[in-house]
Amino acid sequence: LQKNPLTYEGGGGVLADGTRVQLLANIGGAKDAEKAVAANADGVGLFRTEFLFLDREDEPTIEEQTSAYREVFAHFPGQKVVVRTIDAGADKPLPFLTDADEPNPALGVRAYRTSWEKRSVLTNQLDAIAAATKGTEATPWVMAPMISTLEDTEDFAALCAERGLSPAGIMVETPSAAITADRQLTACDFASIGTNDLTQYTMAADRMLGTLAHLNNPWQPAVLALVKATCDGARTAGGDAGAYGEKAVKPVGVCGEAAGDPGLAVVLVGLGVNSLSMTPRSLPAVAKVLSTVSLDQAKQLAAAAVSAPTADKARDAVRAGLPILG
Ligand code: PEP
Ligand code: MG
Repeated sequence: LQKNPLTYEGGGGVLADGTRVQLLANIGGAKDAEKAVAANADGVGLFRTEFLFLDREDEPTIEEQTSAYREVFAHFPGQKVVVRTIDAGADKPLPFLTDADEPNPALGVRAYRTSWEKRSVLTNQLDAIAAATKGTEATPWVMAPMISTLEDTEDFAALCAERGLSPAGIMVETPSAAITADRQLTACDFASIGTNDLTQYTMAADRMLGTLAHLNNPWQPAVLALVKATCDGARTAGGDAGAYGEKAVKPVGVCGEAAGDPGLAVVLVGLGVNSLSMTPRSLPAVAKVLSTVSLDQAKQLAAAAVSAPTADKARDAVRAGLPILG
């Protein structure tokens, strides 16, 4: 795959049997949005809004935020743009929002949890997102990071509904959110699995520590089992219309690094994920590999990976079934 430069023409990933999967881009702001458009992404699966806040001593005003979101939305008229509310804390501390003295910041008051005490940072951000859609064709899908309980989801969904922001969803980044996905997805419209954090929290391995890289591996069967639990939960919550492709009632995407790994992308689709969001340069290779398998084959490879004894054996089983990976 490396030797032959590939391109992605847009229009979704199309499996060998015609099943479609949205292929989206991860972005941090307007510059990245341009790259996503140039790469023919079908929209944005993760807009990491905290990049607008990072070098700031104070919270950006609602007006500043509105114009930053509007600039991004303008690149994707009529397309899906999944906007993640501020994900501060742990590796992304913010002086006006997070407590730098916590002993275990990755397990602390980070991301959505900061809204428990400092409510207005989240509500101001939601107000800015709502304002940015006025008079445009933007259809933001708003989601909260680091959700762990149903109360979190209900609270976030209510804040979005008050502002007319729909659909509203959650990131599945904790094992608790994955295991309770059936209930979580009755309280919100969609889920996006953050495999970077989901892996860190499933394997109890700090994602910042290079020495733990073998544990921070989304091929770990335990991580794949939680992706499966999330998709199965979405199907339960969404009724019987199928959680695959464009028919999904409660869509489940993946926006962690795993989505950009071609072999894993096949596994994720086989488990029931219907959109994959990645750095734009990964789009061509993922689209190419998806085109070589049917949904039934992807399901079989996914079943083999989930039941493999180790991460290495999971990857080997999938590679063996995907000749294109060589
Ligand atoms: C993730 O955790 O997989 C994710 C997409 O979010 P981030 O990498 O920004 O924490
Ligand atoms: Mg994350």
